[in-house]
Amino acid sequence: MPAPFAGVRRAPPAQNDPNFTYAPGTPERAALKSRLDEMAGERLDIPVVVDGEEVRNGSTQTAVMPHEHAHVLADWHKATACDVARAADRAAIAQREWAGWAWEDRAAVFLKAAELLTTSWRQTLNAATMLGQSKTAYQAEIDAASELIDFWRYNVAFAEEIYREQPVSTHGTWNQTDYRGLEGFVYAVTPFNFTAIGGNLPAAPALMGCAVVWKPASSAMVSAYYILKLLEAAGLPPGVINFVPGDAVDVSNVLLDHPQLAGIHFTGSTAVFNSMWQKVGQNLGRYRSYPRIVGETGGKDFVVAHPSADVQELAVGLVRGAYEYQGQKCSAASRAYIPTSLWPEVRDRMVAMMKDIKVGDVRDFRNFMGAVIDKKAFDKISGYIDDARKNASIIAGGGCYGEAGYFIEPTLVEAKDPGYRLLCEEIFGPVLTVYVYDDARWLETLAIVDETSPYALTGAIFARDRRAVVEAASALRNAAGNFYINDKPTGAVVGHQPFGGARASGTNDKAGSKMNLLRWASARSVKETFAPPTDWTYPFMAEK
Ligand code: NAD
Repeated sequence: MPAPFAGVRRAPPAQNDPNFTYAPGTPERAALKSRLDEMAGERLDIPVVVDGEEVRNGSTQTAVMPHEHAHVLADWHKATACDVARAADRAAIAQREWAGWAWEDRAAVFLKAAELLTTSWRQTLNAATMLGQSKTAYQAEIDAASELIDFWRYNVAFAEEIYREQPVSTHGTWNQTDYRGLEGFVYAVTPFNFTAIGGNLPAAPALMGCAVVWKPASSAMVSAYYILKLLEAAGLPPGVINFVPGDAVDVSNVLLDHPQLAGIHFTGSTAVFNSMWQKVGQNLGRYRSYPRIVGETGGKDFVVAHPSADVQELAVGLVRGAYEYQGQKCSAASRAYIPTSLWPEVRDRMVAMMKDIKVGDVRDFRNFMGAVIDKKAFDKISGYIDDARKNASIIAGGGCYGEAGYFIEPTLVEAKDPGYRLLCEEIFGPVLTVYVYDDARWLETLAIVDETSPYALTGAIFARDRRAVVEAASALRNAAGNFYINDKPTGAVVGHQPFGGARASGTNDKAGSKMNLLRWASARSVKETFAPPTDWTYPFMAEK
């Protein structure tokens, strides 16, 4: 193909999407409501998509509304082992051409997708996220629209920075770094809880010249399918991102055994990530290259308050941090350490706020919370609440109502034992457990926070005393990949707080950053010599 362009191009600067409020009377509220009505009245038939070709092989599963689980939004076709193997093969072929494109042309696809998402596609993706994943209008907006737009725009800016990074050269030589996309295919596996992650995990490797086989989460199928359609509308060539909904274990068995597996881009639970890594280890001899493994996994995110904390700021941070999106954010506050001197007031203010929280169908905009994602999550979370009834004290909430939708009240638990399981294990629901500590034991409490759970994703300190901030930031340095001072531990913004955790929370490659994009490039160093030597001997060899 002849080169279509000459010139060192500059991508548009990345700008964060300014999200809408959806306050009464705004045009975006009316547009979203009308799209919700339309989409709730449809029943999609979602295919497997391999090399741009839609495959419907008859074995289907339904996607429902978590807040009205009798309501079917879509039937989605499950990929067979044969479809999955074909997706891997076709991706590896498509990758050769795609990696040969000028990076600016690949980038243009994602910039166009971001633009479409700011405008004509915005309410489709928001409504899909509200109906399919039970997010409120605002939670859908900051995820499905703003965060995904930000990922696509910032990734382009970061890719440009990477490509501009070139080695030094001298007069007689020219040294260059060629950032090659990974040969073969990258396996992207996405979680249910963020539509933006669904759009970022396949797109980031693709931007860098990789081809992808994407297995979306079964419980976020509607938004995932619309992301694929949006990327197609933006001009993504067939075969670059292949869409294989299906049984997770069956899909993984085919892809993790495939010799062309070049990488895994995963977000989800720690146990699943560990099982995939183990399988890769067992299969190491099979692969053409060492697969790059990137995984952002579970969390048990903490808020620790110093006796100098502002009580109202702390109470608001806890309520928003723990209960927005039903606590189903990997960053959600799920354990808090409050000094005895503050606890009665913090508790009373939180309980008062929680009394006003409405839980219900997200199409009713007065609700602050929707339903949890599915029956499995509902049973797991209610099991933890039952445990708290027996072994701790429920201060507020605790109600679980699964008949029409999977609703769980925001729940506040007080535990006396800092090793109690609700203070250690990831629950992934609207349950916040508090441990009240003696004010005099501040430093010991920081050590408890650090050692209590295997995770290290997000955490927050509330204090007005700067010395306490320094002590907490130091004692908890390895306890969180995203650390907040006088703020809730959720709501990271692309480009502002690159997101990811260490320990059992993942490889900490920071989604939506240069660090992440570098994992999808395999550098080739190229040295060109303009005047190659013509004499094989060296001066030191002369006798005099
Ligand atoms: P999950 O682990 O159940 O599923 C994630 C993905 O893995 C889904 O696509 C699922 O189908 C797939 N999967 C499940 N079993 C598999 C297997 N055996 N082999 C291969 N793939 C398999 O997680 P989820 O319930 O969708 O999401 C919640 C989890 O994700 C929580 O643990 C949360 O902390 C984590 N999370 C982490 C981050 C982060 O940035 N660290 C962000 C979002 C979610």
